Amino acid sequence: MLVFKNALLIDGTGQSPCEGITVIIEGKKITQVGKDLPIPEGAQVIDLKGQVLLPGFSDAHTHIGGSDRLDRPGLSGRFDSYDYAQNREAALQWGVTTVRSAGDFTPEILEFRDEVNQGKIRSPRIIACGRFIQAQDGHPGYTVFAADQNILDNAMVLVNEQTDIEAEVKKLVDAGVDFIKTFISDDNKMDYPNSVPRLSNEQLKRIADTAHKYGKRLAIHVDDLKDMADAVTIGADTIEHTINVGSTYHELTDDLLKALTSREVWVVPSMIATKNHDVMPNIPPVYDKLKEVIRKFIQAGVKIGVGCDSGIPFVPYGECVHLEMELLTEVGMSPLAAITAATGGNAKMFGQDHIFGTVEPGKAADLVILGSNPLQDIKNTRDIKMVLRDGRIVVDNLLS
Ligand SMILES: [Zn+2]
Repeated sequence: MLVFKNALLIDGTGQSPCEGITVIIEGKKITQVGKDLPIPEGAQVIDLKGQVLLPGFSDAHTHIGGSDRLDRPGLSGRFDSYDYAQNREAALQWGVTTVRSAGDFTPEILEFRDEVNQGKIRSPRIIACGRFIQAQDGHPGYTVFAADQNILDNAMVLVNEQTDIEAEVKKLVDAGVDFIKTFISDDNKMDYPNSVPRLSNEQLKRIADTAHKYGKRLAIHVDDLKDMADAVTIGADTIEHTINVGSTYHELTDDLLKALTSREVWVVPSMIATKNHDVMPNIPPVYDKLKEVIRKFIQAGVKIGVGCDSGIPFVPYGECVHLEMELLTEVGMSPLAAITAATGGNAKMFGQDHIFGTVEPGKAADLVILGSNPLQDIKNTRDIKMVLRDGRIVVDNLLS
């Protein structure tokens, strides 16, 4: 049994921090949270006076088999490979205790997820869509992945006129995916301003209806606000990105804002990815436009998830969650709201808030301890003293 006492608690629900809190952990779970709790005999007690305890962060959009190194582009299917190992370790070191894989080699990622959940592998918790569904000849298989046959064969479902979409979605569900991901994207940033084929709204609707029939949430990648409007209409539960490099439609309409706030839909803007890719030659910059739009989303109360598109070049795995929170505060989110979004908010978006994401009895003991208060300066989320994953100390800069 492990007990933390005297903590300043930011619990991930969005409520203000509480001082002098005791948190009791038994096995993988938090069992008690409160002031003046009696300390069970024989427990290991760690005094957190002057430190801050909060739920582990999550990255809602990663490719865990990808790499941020330009000399190792693409995706890999070997979970013991350099990239999986480096990425999952980077995540833990940065206090990221859950990652949502938005497309990786399948079935490898699903097998890997299961082994992680069985406690066999030191890793953040994984939530995975398995293969993503994209248009034949479309993005990203035929753009950024340059029709790499290995990636086409192992990481995606290619859809053409003849595809039995319902059967393909069911195959993913039967394989055990946590959610379904597809694309609305006809921009070709590798060959700007030319375009590539995209799925029709009718095809997308069939994907959405089938995913929902089997109780799976649908994530839709968009490149700009016209794509986003289609995604909301089709029934996306989460919208991945907002304005990507090489995209065209950037005017936010009242209709879209209304649609985003009138039903349960989350936007994962991945600001850090757009910002760091906004340097591509011969493509007009878009990051300032994205900032303007996300500021309006935050003002209007659009639900925002924290995801980074880590596993692609220019996005440092793990650290990117801190960068994304910093960028969200630059466009009007309070530090408390940014932390809530990256913890309890993301868990809600994944539909797994009954399992983790907040510091409450019954939740998984995925925790982070900081040496300074992130509500005073969001950069203090980087001051990581300890990380726990399922009740086990996996990073320790406090006692050692
Ligand atoms: Zn992605």
